Amino acid sequence: MIQRLLNFLDVSPVNFLAVKALADVLTKSGYRRLDPRHPLGNVAVGDKFFVTKNDSSIYAFEIGRKPLADAGFHIICAHCDSPTFRIKPNAEITCEGDIVKLNTEVYGGPIMSTWFDRPLTLAGRVIVRGEDAMSPVTRLLHIRRPLLQISNLAIHFNRQVNDGVKLSKQKDTLPLLGIVTEELERGNLLMNIIVEELSKESAVRHEDILDFDLYLADATPACTFGVHDEFISSGRLDDLSMCYAGLEALLSSPASDTTKVLAIFDNEETGSQTKQGAGSPFLATILKRIALAQSGTEEAFFQAVEHSFMVSADNAHAWHPNYSEKYDPTNHPVLGGGPVIKFNAAQKYASDAASAAVFAEICREAGVPCQRFVNHSDVAGGSTLGNILASSLPLRGVDMGNPILAMHSCRETGAVADHIYTVRAFTRFYQ
Ligand code: ZN
Repeated sequence: MIQRLLNFLDVSPVNFLAVKALADVLTKSGYRRLDPRHPLGNVAVGDKFFVTKNDSSIYAFEIGRKPLADAGFHIICAHCDSPTFRIKPNAEITCEGDIVKLNTEVYGGPIMSTWFDRPLTLAGRVIVRGEDAMSPVTRLLHIRRPLLQISNLAIHFNRQVNDGVKLSKQKDTLPLLGIVTEELERGNLLMNIIVEELSKESAVRHEDILDFDLYLADATPACTFGVHDEFISSGRLDDLSMCYAGLEALLSSPASDTTKVLAIFDNEETGSQTKQGAGSPFLATILKRIALAQSGTEEAFFQAVEHSFMVSADNAHAWHPNYSEKYDPTNHPVLGGGPVIKFNAAQKYASDAASAAVFAEICREAGVPCQRFVNHSDVAGGSTLGNILASSLPLRGVDMGNPILAMHSCRETGAVADHIYTVRAFTRFYQ
C-alpha cells in the first residue's frame, strides 16, 4: 500500500498529472468517464463513473443500493494542488555567460527556502492548436529528469544567512534552466524542451504551441526513511496522500447502501474560488443531476443532502519535536498516532462535536486510533476546503487529515502507519 502511494506521488508532480493518475486507476477499475456535456442517462445501482473539470479536478461516484433520497452520499473530499512556482509567460531571462533563468510566480504558500539547491523539473499542461480557436488540444507534460535548480547565494556573501533571510519572490527564486550554446537556442530554450518532450509521444510543431500552465516540481522521488522505515519523505503529501487514501478506500470498500463520492478539488492553496475548486457549484450540480437521473425529482436531491456526510480530508500538523512551544498544550497529534480530527472555534474547519463523534466512531469500528487537533490559541493556523464546500452544499461533515511535519515544504514528512490507518477508516466510512 505504501509503495502504491509513493508511486502515485512520483507520477503526480502537479494537479493535472495527479488527476490523470487518478483517472487512469479509476478507468482500470471499471469506472466510466462521463462527459458532463452529455445527458447523464440512466443511473443504476452499482454504477461507477467519474467526471473531471479543467483537467485539474476529478469526481468519482459509485451508486449505492438504496435510493439517494433514503441514504444520501458519503463524500470524501481532498485537494490535488500544492504550493509551487508557476512559469510566467515570456519566462526566459538570458544573463551574462548566456545563462538562462526562468521567470516564475509563486503558487500558494510554499516554504520557499526548501526549494533551493535541489534538482527540480517542469510539469503541467501545454495547449496545442486544434481544429479551430474554440477547440485547442491539451497535452500533459512531465519531464522526468533534473532540469532546473534554484541556487543559493554562497554563505561568504551573506554571513547572516543562518540568522534568517528575507526572500524576494521576484529576485531570489528564479531557477537556472541552461546555457545557450547555439544562436538558434536564444529565446527558445524552454520551448525547445517542451517540443522535444511532447514529441516523444506524438509530433508537435513549435508554432502550434499556444500556451501552457507549467510549474516547478521536486525531481527527487518520494521515499520512506527511519530505522523501521516508519516515515514518508515527499513533496505534496499535502494533499495527495489524502487523495490517494480516498481512492484506495473507494476501490477496496464493498458495495454499500449509500452512494460513494470521492471529490478531488483544485486550487485549495489559493482559496478554492475557481470553477474546479471547492467554491464551485460543479460538485453540487453533478450530485443534483445524479439524484434527478435516479428519481426524476429535485426533492430527492434535497433529501439526499440531509442524509449525507462529508469527510474533508486535508493534512494536519503533527507535533514537531523541535518546536513543542508552537502547539496547543493538550491537543497536539503525533506522527503515527492515527488520523486527526481538526477543530476551530471560528469554524475554519467543518468539524463540530456531532460530526467529530461520527468520525471517531468510524475509526473505532475500523480499529484505528484517532487524534484531535486545535491550534495554539496565539497561532493563526490555516484553513481548508470543508467549510467552503459546506457553504454552498450544507453537508454534515468533519475536517480531518493525517499529521505531517513541514507542511508546504518542498519535502514534507508523514508516517507510514497513518496512511494505513486512514485507508482503513475511509474504507469503513464508505462501507
Ligand atoms: Zn492541504
